[in-house]
Amino acid sequence: MNMISFKIDGVPVTVPAGTTILEAARQAGIRIPTLCYMKDVNEIGACRMCVVEAGGRALQAACVYPVDSLPRNRETGEYAEVKTNTPAIRRARKVNLELLLSNHDKKCLSCVRSTNCELQALCREYGVEDENRFAGAMTETKVDNSSLSIVRNNAKCILCRRCEAVCEKVQHVGVIGPTMRGFKTQILPAWNMGLAETGCINCGQCINVCPTAALTEKDDTKEVFDALADPNKYVVVQTAPAVRAALGEEFGIPMGTSVTGKMAAALRRMGFDKVFDTDYAADLTIMEEANELVARVKEGGVLPMITSCSPGWIKFCETYYPEFIPNLSSCKSPHEMEGAVIKSYFAEKEGIDPHKIVVVSVMPCTAKKFECKRPEMGHDGMADVDIVITTRELARMIKQCGIRFEKLADEDFDDMLGESTGAAVIFGVTGGVMEAALRTAYEVITGEKLQKLDFVDVRGFEGVKEASYNLNGLEVKVAVAHSTGAAAKLLDAVKSGEKSYTFIEVMGCPGGCINGGGQPLVSPEKRLEIDVKALRAKALYDEDAAKPIRKSHELPAINKMYDEFFGNPNSPKAHELLHTHYTARKLYND
Ligand code: SF4
Ligand code: SF4
Ligand code: SF4
Repeated sequence: MNMISFKIDGVPVTVPAGTTILEAARQAGIRIPTLCYMKDVNEIGACRMCVVEAGGRALQAACVYPVDSLPRNRETGEYAEVKTNTPAIRRARKVNLELLLSNHDKKCLSCVRSTNCELQALCREYGVEDENRFAGAMTETKVDNSSLSIVRNNAKCILCRRCEAVCEKVQHVGVIGPTMRGFKTQILPAWNMGLAETGCINCGQCINVCPTAALTEKDDTKEVFDALADPNKYVVVQTAPAVRAALGEEFGIPMGTSVTGKMAAALRRMGFDKVFDTDYAADLTIMEEANELVARVKEGGVLPMITSCSPGWIKFCETYYPEFIPNLSSCKSPHEMEGAVIKSYFAEKEGIDPHKIVVVSVMPCTAKKFECKRPEMGHDGMADVDIVITTRELARMIKQCGIRFEKLADEDFDDMLGESTGAAVIFGVTGGVMEAALRTAYEVITGEKLQKLDFVDVRGFEGVKEASYNLNGLEVKVAVAHSTGAAAKLLDAVKSGEKSYTFIEVMGCPGGCINGGGQPLVSPEKRLEIDVKALRAKALYDEDAAKPIRKSHELPAINKMYDEFFGNPNSPKAHELLHTHYTARKLYND
């Protein structure tokens, strides 16, 4: 490997040829600010915050400048020194920020990103004193509220194009990008359509990378507060597995700390009538899905069967790979199952009119906001789930309620629909649904006790993971994909005949729900220093390991419900309430 040695701000550094100045500086312990940069995803030198002096060349964008392009001394061959911190550079960065602000709505006081906005933080850092220094004409923009999940407000957009890059390169969707020219340039869907009119899959990965409040989740907290204040409503909340792995971050609790008990305590203090756990329905999903898989294998059903827990993935499949719709498990996602059970089994047992029940789901996911409004997600004229809020929205609500989250003592979920196994909690991380299903499918197929519960081959963050298991002579070939971009590659390989599997797990977001579009925001810069996905996943794997029951089919509460209500997995009643169907979608709505 050709190594390049040079100095940055007097610090000697040696890096492989092709390394950018930005990366070399980071290795030398020098921070160069960025706004548009995302390693391997968006390296376009657009925002000009990373300008440096490269030899005699002033104001070069460090994120796209390879060190082997530095000027060299003709006699000695030495590479020129890079300067990242001169008065001219600091002035240029400050002016760049002032120019961005000249076309920005600057309503920081009422902005949902205030205090975790990358633009605001850099303005503070670079001592911007007059945000109106270059006040003048503003680009005409309008807020796009058409999506059930995402709000686009181009008055706060800085044209960094991170959203475009993640949507196209990571998710293989590509429905937003720059349109028009010069001062009129905006990030828009084609023909300035509303996002809801496009093939957007509602995943929210664009929100996760946006440095400002130009992209945010649709705020449904008012609906929840209104329901809680209504004496005629019985308000039940449920929380997804991945929420507990990240909610603490919003309250200064170290990343990777599971806050299950504090979360249950906070929800009770907020006034919910019942605090249930979506993990219960994750166990229920395994009962239905593992038995569906066994039936498909034994009866020659459509294979590979593909999981259906991730609504972003489901919409992606319906829109871009409709030929795989017959492969999708007919199981509803866990929170929809939990909602259906709350408004049937639970309501019946407690003698509550199900029409008075409001089910609120706290999810790591913006696509679930879309999913809960799907007409097929309900029964008897009721939606299974009425309102979905994200982890970020729940954190805001807890703060508004004056609850000192970090001080709360742990509490349990409520009985009946609050119990769960270790298999359920790992649903929140890529490979978790597969591992949970295998724990049950193994025992259903072989009739033997599973000795080793950890299926480590399907853990980790490789784009696609594969494994093969021999269950009493039956070879089960499995694959796990996370991000719809990785899913697309996997489906192409299945379609071409290059690969064949029995069972595939797909999660729409990179890393699975722990990194969903509704989780606490972590800037791409911070993500270079900490492995967000690994830390949040560890919280869930630790919780799984500590659970007394780690296989879904061994949970007494689930078996009791089958005895009292559903009969057997995949029974007609189970199909009526817990299963659904899918529809091919057009890329652009008329
Ligand atoms: S996006 Fe950032 S800079 Fe813009 S108004 Fe919101 S907090 Fe302020
Ligand atoms: S929500 Fe997902 S699909 Fe929709 S624009 Fe954002 S990244 Fe693209
Ligand atoms: S919407 Fe956000 S991520 Fe997209 S270009 Fe604008 S500021 Fe950047």
